[in-house]
Parts: sequence; C-alpha cells; structure tokens
Amino acid sequence: MYDLIIKNARTLEHQTIDVAIKDGKISEISAVIAADSQEIFNAKGQFISAGWIDAHVHCYEKMSLYYDYPDEVGVKNGVTTIVDAGSTGENNIGEFYKLARKSKTNVYALLNISKDGIVFQDELSDLTKVNEAKNLERIQELSEFIIGIKARMSKSVIGQNGVRPLIMAKSLQKKANLPLMVHIGTAPVELEELMSYLDAGDIVTHCFNGKDNGILDRAGQIKDFAKKAYEAGVHFDIGHGTESFNFQVAMQAKSENILANSISTDIYSRNRLDGPVYNLATTMEKLMYVGYSLEQVIHRVTQTPAKALRLSSKGELAVGYDADITLFKVTDDSSKQLIDSNQETVKTSVQIQPTATIIAGKVYEID
Ligand SMILES: [Zn+2]
Repeated sequence: MYDLIIKNARTLEHQTIDVAIKDGKISEISAVIAADSQEIFNAKGQFISAGWIDAHVHCYEKMSLYYDYPDEVGVKNGVTTIVDAGSTGENNIGEFYKLARKSKTNVYALLNISKDGIVFQDELSDLTKVNEAKNLERIQELSEFIIGIKARMSKSVIGQNGVRPLIMAKSLQKKANLPLMVHIGTAPVELEELMSYLDAGDIVTHCFNGKDNGILDRAGQIKDFAKKAYEAGVHFDIGHGTESFNFQVAMQAKSENILANSISTDIYSRNRLDGPVYNLATTMEKLMYVGYSLEQVIHRVTQTPAKALRLSSKGELAVGYDADITLFKVTDDSSKQLIDSNQETVKTSVQIQPTATIIAGKVYEID
C-alpha cells in the first residue's frame, strides 16, 4: 500500500508515467502503477520533475529589509526547497532555524560569516564581526540546517577590507568542509582578484549581473579569467535579485557557451511583490528567453543546485530520492513581459506555470 500515486504525469521526454510514494520517498516509477494507495493524484496534462530548488533566497521573516516567509517563496510557487543565502550569521541563525522548521517548504541556510548576517548591509566592513570559532560551533550545532557558507564581496558590504573577508570565508570553508557561495557586485574587490581565490565547486552568485565589475569586458565579450574560472569548475549561479540579472550578459555568455550552472532568484518580499523577480518560474522563463531549453532550465533548478549544495537525497526524480516533486504546465499561446534588473523589457510567449508542489509526499495544489 503506497501513500500516494501520481498518475498520468508527463516527463520532459514526453512519456506518461505514474510515480508512487511511500514514507516520504519515491518508491516506484513506471508507465502504469496499479497498486493500492491511500491517495491518488491525477496529473494528466501536467509535466513532472524533481522538486524545484531555489539556491539563493532571503526568507528570515524577522529581518528588516531582506525578509520574506519561506512558504511565500517556496510551496506556493512550485518550489520544494529553498536555500537562504546568508540572511543570518552565528548570532541569529538559531532563531531563524526555529521559525524556518515550521514551514511546509524545505528550508536550508548558508551561514553568513558575519555574526548578524545582513541586519546591517555592510556586514563585512568590520571584521571583528567574523569569529571563526563561533561560526564552526554553530555549523556543528545546526548541521542539518546549515549546508554552506556565504560571503558577500562587493563595495557596499566590505568597506575598506578588500579581499580579506573572502580569505576568512575560505579558511572557514576548509575547516567546515562545506560549499561556499560568494556574491559578486561592484568593485572593490575587482572580479579578477576575487575569482583567483575560488576553487572548483565554489559558487558565484549574481553571475550575470550588468555591473561594470561583472563578467563582460568593455568590448562586450566575456572576460578571459571568468571563462577560465567557469571552465575550471567554478559554479555560476543566477541570483537574479533586484539588481543582478541582465539579459545582454546572459545572452553574450550563452553565445560563448557559458550557461549558468543553477537558476536562483535572490528573492525577498519586495522584489517578489514589485518585481523584477516575482518567483522562480519567472526567472526560469527569462533563461528560456535567453535560449536555454526547457530541459536545461529544469536541470538547473533540480540536479545542479542539489549537487552543488550536496543535497544528496534531492534533485532527482528517481526511486529512493525524497518525494519532493513539482508539477507544472508550459504554455506558449499568450504574451508576457519579462523585465531584467536593468529595466530591459522583452516579450515571451513561453510561460511556465507550477500547478502543484509535492513536499515529502504531501500534495499542495496551486490555484
Ligand atoms: Zn542575496
């Protein structure tokens, strides 16, 4: 007896499948499953994929500026797992954990190396706020919740400290053996110097920002060192945000065979409600506008973020994995405007609409 069978779902390869779930895990996938089940969900006409993962959000509701509620960005938008990227540090991440675990959406966190996270937005301008011993202690205490480390490396955050915060983040990363996400933006630090400290697997978020210190040179080509870093395995993450996604940069990168490794939103209440982010599906539509296929887009919100953040039971629609699943429709019969962070507006006909979010085998329909 299964807990749930999802019937007649359509794979990206246009096959029709049934998926059976038991005890929060995917138990069986085949063309037709006839076994008994507590619950049957008919997904006819809907695509199925592993649950979408948004690797860069801000969802600590007690934060003053960059706050949101996990279920507003997650389950209501087809997103089964969200990763808060450094809203909190060793001082307040315990409080965040207590709140986050009450949500339906799976919530994980990257620990900001600065003790209070982004309570103040210049969190790395005073390096006495970075305490490696306390950071390590918190990482051990909350090992189920803290899955990585975050350092925001741009002018307004680091003040006069240059590359020093990044060196501290790398030191912590080595001791904790966790993934590191680095936010890039306005210099200092120059992007070339910043990237020289990164290793394969390190995550650069805001990869296609349209700022001067981004990956495009003055001639509009991808800077050599950025290409080399990408080819060496540095992970490029979208981290759209209010200020950090630019269509031209994304298109130029694609024309030089640089596709973002993961698609994430950097969403919080304001850019969710007022744009330009709105939700993960809209960000996915933007990458389809840039020329990514539906398969490439889905891959970048499932397998690749799971792998980069070592969420080993997530990101695949396969037997034995967590029963986190997204059902969605893709339509191309109407017109929608998409806007990037530099107010460039384009029109697309392709729309991705999540219809149900399944988290640990529980179905949440989206109206
Ligand atoms: Zn962010």
